[in-house]
Amino acid sequence: MDQETHRSLACAVPAGYGRDLAKALSKGIEMRMQIELDDVLQDYVTDVSLREHDVLRELRRETSELPERLMQVSPEQGQFLSLLVRAIGARRALEVGVFTGYSLLCTALALPAGGRVVACDLNPEWSEMALEFCARAGVADKVDLRVGDARRILDELLAEDGAEGSFDFAFIDADKVGYDAYYEAALRLLRPGGLIVVDNVLWSGAVVDARAQDDDTRALRVFNAKLRDDKRIDISLIPFADGLTFALKR
Ligand code: CA
Repeated sequence: MDQETHRSLACAVPAGYGRDLAKALSKGIEMRMQIELDDVLQDYVTDVSLREHDVLRELRRETSELPERLMQVSPEQGQFLSLLVRAIGARRALEVGVFTGYSLLCTALALPAGGRVVACDLNPEWSEMALEFCARAGVADKVDLRVGDARRILDELLAEDGAEGSFDFAFIDADKVGYDAYYEAALRLLRPGGLIVVDNVLWSGAVVDARAQDDDTRALRVFNAKLRDDKRIDISLIPFADGLTFALKR
């Protein structure tokens, strides 16, 4: 690399990345620009980009009092899902794993009039809370929330007339052992060009920790490797939040 290239590359990289840059340069030009978010920068991201619906904010506040609160997607992630739903012009969406409904409400708010999201979750209390907030936001008519085992609900959905190939968007965020089954069902339910978003694919880094041999982590490793080689989709894994995989059905 000549000095000029070296200098312009260095200029493109913010202060604090000198060491990483030097390391990358020593290996050729395979620089992996990955910004680290400290609290100050995270607050800035929120400050300049978050447009959170009042009811979403209330839902987030109420969910933060539950012991399982960490299962809630961040407001930025929810907003990102909303944007995706709009970007692909989705009318029919699917959500596997609802929890208290933050992402469900993001999806419902992003769908056009007449749009519908079919969602499922095992927990009746969480589902009730999700529905209550969807009603409060005035989008209950767009939500078809089914309580019970996701495998069974997806099978039933697939058996419905015209369901196969009719969905535009799917968000999978439930038990990790079930991911493969949910993905296969979602792939059948989606139209070509439909988008599946899968949450938690990096599992706080456990996927590369050899000591992590629990069922969830092992399932995620198998699932991630499967998608890499799956010719039915185009794929992108974004290391945002806890890792999101985008699978675009061919
Ligand atoms: Ca999640």
